[in-house]
Amino acid sequence: MLASLVVSIAALPAMLGGCEPTDRLPDLRVGELYGFSVQRTASGRALLRFGTIGFNVGAGPLEARGVRTDTDSGSMLVTQRIYDSEGGHRDRRTSAVMVYDTGDNHDHWHTRQFMTVTMYRLGNPTGNVYGLRKLGYCLLDAERMSNPPPNSPDTRQYPNGSCGNRSSTSVRTGLSIGYGDDYPPQYAHQWMDVNRLPLGTYRICATVDPFGDFVESRDDNNQRWADVRVNVRAGTVQVLDTAVGRCGPNVS
Ligand SMILES: [Zn+2]
Repeated sequence: MLASLVVSIAALPAMLGGCEPTDRLPDLRVGELYGFSVQRTASGRALLRFGTIGFNVGAGPLEARGVRTDTDSGSMLVTQRIYDSEGGHRDRRTSAVMVYDTGDNHDHWHTRQFMTVTMYRLGNPTGNVYGLRKLGYCLLDAERMSNPPPNSPDTRQYPNGSCGNRSSTSVRTGLSIGYGDDYPPQYAHQWMDVNRLPLGTYRICATVDPFGDFVESRDDNNQRWADVRVNVRAGTVQVLDTAVGRCGPNVS
């Protein structure tokens, strides 16, 4: 008798129409790397340039809110706001940090290492590893997917300017359902230094949210690799293959 009573009470919310709010979590996914080229600088250095883009294909936005106590503080602590099925939300502290970046002429707040990109000789992830110069990211709705998931908003919820200015003490940044945070190849710091890179085939490994700062519905699609044949002397890059999937060297 008692057992059946317990079951009835547990089933009550479902019988009343499921009022229990459930999280609408984001899901980050790395889009195809694009626009590869080898650039020679005026001083003769060789830079491998390409574009990167992280999409939110989840059931809710990724929202990262930065706050600092006063304008003397050089960094902001980051809270993730998670929306739910009933129109509410909850906030959780993350280990992510925002810093104010001026070196790339952006002059706004960047979430550090929202995406990391490394490159190593194919089959040798523990050998020489090259890294993308860009480290900080302003999360915003730069581009909408051509085939967005359900509930993607028609208008940008996190527009240009979301990442604040020098006097901001708080910013609300994010990535709506079905939008991508796009970093074209010509952007500042969107390159790897490939001076004296030996001719060969390399694997580029891009990881969004590499330290798991943000809660998502899936973490097994946060990496994408692209195998490229690079000839620095000839200035050519050929993409051989690419896919979403695990890649090294330092992210498990
Ligand atoms: Zn920026």
